[in-house]
Amino acid sequence: SWIIALAVIVLLGLVVVLLNVAMPKFKSLQRLTDRLNLVSRENLSGMLVVRAFTNEKFEEARFDKANEDLTRTNRFTQRVMSLTMPIMMLIMNLVTLLIMWVGGHAIAESTMQVGDMMAYIQYTMQIIMSFLMISMIFIMVPRAMVSADRVQEVLTTELSIKEPENPVTLGNESGELRFDDVSFRYGNAEEDTLSHISFTAKPGQTTAFIGATGAGKSTLINLIPRFYDVTGGAVYLNGKDIRTLSQKELRDNIGYVPQKAMLFSGTIDSNIKYGKEDADVNEVLAALDCAQATEFVSELPNGVESSIAQGGSNVSGGQKQRLAIARALVKKAPVYIFDDSFSALDFKTDAKLRRALTKYTENAVVLIVAQRVSTIMNAEQIIVLDEGKIVGKGTHKELLKTCPEYREIAESQLSKEELA
Ligand code: ADP
Repeated sequence: SWIIALAVIVLLGLVVVLLNVAMPKFKSLQRLTDRLNLVSRENLSGMLVVRAFTNEKFEEARFDKANEDLTRTNRFTQRVMSLTMPIMMLIMNLVTLLIMWVGGHAIAESTMQVGDMMAYIQYTMQIIMSFLMISMIFIMVPRAMVSADRVQEVLTTELSIKEPENPVTLGNESGELRFDDVSFRYGNAEEDTLSHISFTAKPGQTTAFIGATGAGKSTLINLIPRFYDVTGGAVYLNGKDIRTLSQKELRDNIGYVPQKAMLFSGTIDSNIKYGKEDADVNEVLAALDCAQATEFVSELPNGVESSIAQGGSNVSGGQKQRLAIARALVKKAPVYIFDDSFSALDFKTDAKLRRALTKYTENAVVLIVAQRVSTIMNAEQIIVLDEGKIVGKGTHKELLKTCPEYREIAESQLSKEELA
């Protein structure tokens, strides 16, 4: 019996030693796999850039390093793990030998029968085999633990945008959108990206935002669908703080066109209906028409049933932009947000689209972020942002007189006649 106890203790000792040696390597294995994935993915998605700068050799070396690191670590852990099986078999056979040795003596002294010894060996094998199985499982534990930790990290991450417990409903009173002394800071930033922003966007009017790159225009716009929550002040829609509305209701009321048009694989029709599932043919066509997409869609062999590849890679930037606009328009929302959505369009299409938009969005609050003064010249209200602050608010004409920042932007883009 002491032989069994000894064998089990040796086995468990072995497992503990192996775990201690292999655990840190297993942990780094996961990190190295990440690194390899990252490098490969960057190389694939940035293939054209890599080629344009003839950096193939550099990228190859980068991949090689990531790959080599992973291979080395993998080889080490596999070697350690491959030791376990022979060692365990050795222990098992040594145990058999020991039993025969001790049993042999007992049989010679006639205190034990051969059959008893054989039976004892059988039982011992079964016990040790079970412990072997347990230790095999323990070998898989380190990897599982590392993976479980990572899953756990995701699961326990707290949502930064919280659903209110008793959401109020929007109602359909005034429909205006109001920023009240809003400040905002990104979680990892040291300074406020937006500070003390106050304005009211009225239904039936266009409110435009202009300013240098990095002035905070996209950040401001992203506060409205609650992609981020304000860190000071509040945003009101219909007089209700948007944090008291359910996220579904809030977002159902917003037609959003992102800065980077993103389409899903499917057809043009399925992409437009992403905005409104039960939209009928006429609604889809009207939205396409307003977004100035009818012309190029009708030239496609299958019209609205033409397929869109993953990420919309089979249509041009401007076409993608127009489809994204149509997707937002089909929703018939009381608030429309265009985040720099007209920059991929040529001037003529831009002008036609704005004209159609005025009709289409009659009573809606329209918010436009733009780079081109000509895009927003006719807006009822233009807000000029600079380093996260409002430095000018008014119509094109007023701002030309009162806001030097706006005047500077306008002078750089418009001719003297247009300015006059
Ligand atoms: P704009 O749209 O006017 O070009 P953005 O709103 O995109 O400007 O950016 C405003 C500022 O906020 C920039 O200085 C940018 O570096 C910073 N910023 C943007 N997104 C993030 C983010 N996710 N985390 C931290 N800082 C950000």
